[in-house]
Amino acid sequence: MRLYSTKSKENFVSLEEAVFKGLPDDNGLYMPEAIPQLPDAFLKSLKGQSFQDIGFEICRHLFQGVIPDSDLRSIIGNAINFPAPIVRLDDETYVLELFHGPSLAFKDFGARFMAQLMSYFNRGNGRELVILVATSGDTGGAVAAGFYKTPGIKVVVLYPSDKVSHLQEKQLTTLGENITAIEVDGTFDDCQALVKQAFLDRDLTMNIRLSSANSINIARLIPQSFYYFEAYKQLPDDGRPVVFCVPSGNFGNLTAGLFAKKMGLPVHQFIAATNSNDIVPAYLNTGEYRPRPSVPTLSNAMDVGNPSNFARMFDLFGSTWNNFRQDIKGYAFSDAQTEAAMRQVFSEHNGYVIDPHGAVGILALRAYQTAAKEPMKGVVLETAHPAKFLPDVERILGRRIVVPERLAVLAEREKHAVRLGTDFGTFKEWLVANF
Ligand SMILES: *Cc1c(COP(=O)(O)O)cnc(C)c1O
Repeated sequence: MRLYSTKSKENFVSLEEAVFKGLPDDNGLYMPEAIPQLPDAFLKSLKGQSFQDIGFEICRHLFQGVIPDSDLRSIIGNAINFPAPIVRLDDETYVLELFHGPSLAFKDFGARFMAQLMSYFNRGNGRELVILVATSGDTGGAVAAGFYKTPGIKVVVLYPSDKVSHLQEKQLTTLGENITAIEVDGTFDDCQALVKQAFLDRDLTMNIRLSSANSINIARLIPQSFYYFEAYKQLPDDGRPVVFCVPSGNFGNLTAGLFAKKMGLPVHQFIAATNSNDIVPAYLNTGEYRPRPSVPTLSNAMDVGNPSNFARMFDLFGSTWNNFRQDIKGYAFSDAQTEAAMRQVFSEHNGYVIDPHGAVGILALRAYQTAAKEPMKGVVLETAHPAKFLPDVERILGRRIVVPERLAVLAEREKHAVRLGTDFGTFKEWLVANF
């Protein structure tokens, strides 16, 4: 398997290089040279395949021998160790619950798979690998949980003091073992600046094997294609077309869906659901891509003003607006509409609690179905557990909701964090003293 940069299609790198580098030097994004179609026999036998079998088959075709089968099996077994169940709301509407992992959001799939791949490629290397991540809250939790107890790898998570939620802070600071949290007296941008400077410091990079766990790493996208197949296999087999509705921010999830379709999954339509940060729906309407500063909303993991995976989607569509518009329909909704949808899902579907991101998805699916007027199976990706947004969800529904045990226990655990300022010299000294 080789990968190219969306900005220079002549220079290829190996999977290992793409995973460790994260971003090509030219600031494009890595893309697989080929996304092979899976064998017909496999696609026809989906119902008999486990989630792990599906992941294995996809990776075997994509990686083309880079990783021996037995190692690949164990990488997938370790990464994909929680389910992605489909819940039926009504005959036209299914919810794909992607929140059964440790941090209660779909990002667990990508983070765990990336951790396993890095650990595999780092095997036999005497030097331990140190992953630096700056987080504004959510990504850090998934990355910390994903790398927890991974052999040969240490993780340093930098977060801005007092600027992440209480539970998010607990997710970062209570794991221990190979995970260290650094509480920075500054902003998220300060955290990011410290990480960037560390990568530019020759002294550091000569002595410590540093890597990042960037959200645009190709290793995070690949396992996200697995659950489109996993969802498809759970749907009733009645010949109606299948549409996937994806609540989107940086569009990693949707891009992974496009990979799945290229591999042969019969997806009739993708629907991009956004909050008022509607850069992609606007592009689908006008043909003009106009990034702009994000505005804060209730579905805050989708508050993105310049979606990083746009370049990957554009590349997949042969850089034409028309192809883009054919495969993806886009809809955007306000916070007031999102709140109303959460209440409606609760009252019309037996008290099902959907989180604000999933609710934006429900709205977009309904808009598409109303316009299409044909029978279909609609699948909305539920990207996070509603308990992650407890105060909002309880206020909107006017009732208490059940917090999963794995989140509830965090409140009792003791916080351990190293407190630092925004000065790079001090951060560097700390790194040198500790690794
Ligand atoms: C990250 C995230 C999203 C956005 O996913 P993208 O792949 O960036 O489009 C949506 N919902 C939740 C809960 C998230 O954490």
